[in-house]
Amino acid sequence: MELQRYDVVIVGGGAAGLSGALALARARRSVLVIDAGEPRNAPASHVHNYLGRESTPPGELLAIGRNEAAGYGAEIVAGRVASAERLPGAEDVGFRV
Ligand SMILES: Cc1cc2nc3c(=O)[nH]c(=O)nc-3n(C[C@H](O)[C@H](O)[C@H](O)COP(=O)(O)OP(=O)(O)OC[C@H]3O[C@@H](n4cnc5c(N)ncnc54)[C@H](O)[C@@H]3O)c2cc1C
Repeated sequence: MELQRYDVVIVGGGAAGLSGALALARARRSVLVIDAGEPRNAPASHVHNYLGRESTPPGELLAIGRNEAAGYGAEIVAGRVASAERLPGAEDVGFRV
């Protein structure tokens, strides 16, 4: 399998991962988000106390976040990361995820 390189690979596309992806993609970093699609608030019907999005269903909030991050070039794929290991060589060579 051919390796693809990104400045940043984010494991998890919940609120935290997508927020990071948005900021990093806006800063012109190449970003890949890998998400297993099991956000912890999935059982909730609505999100509360989130300024500007009061009572939004959790899935809708994530869909909005995915669109915002993708709009700045972040790639978002479905999948589960099993491991992350530092590649051999100099410290700045990176990681294989
Ligand atoms: C029932 C409930 C109701 C809530 N209601 C509110 C509310 O009203 N207002 C509010 O502000 N907060 C609420 N929260 C809290 C809010 O849901 C969390 O703060 C928020 O979801 C945390 O975001 P996160 O991205 O850290 O984690 P999550 O939303 O849990 O997302 C983590 C993502 O990472 C993925 N993942 C994990 N491991 C891997 C892996 N190895 N490879 C790939 N993907 C992986 C998961 O599948 C998931 O999609 C609620 C929480 C719960 C449980």
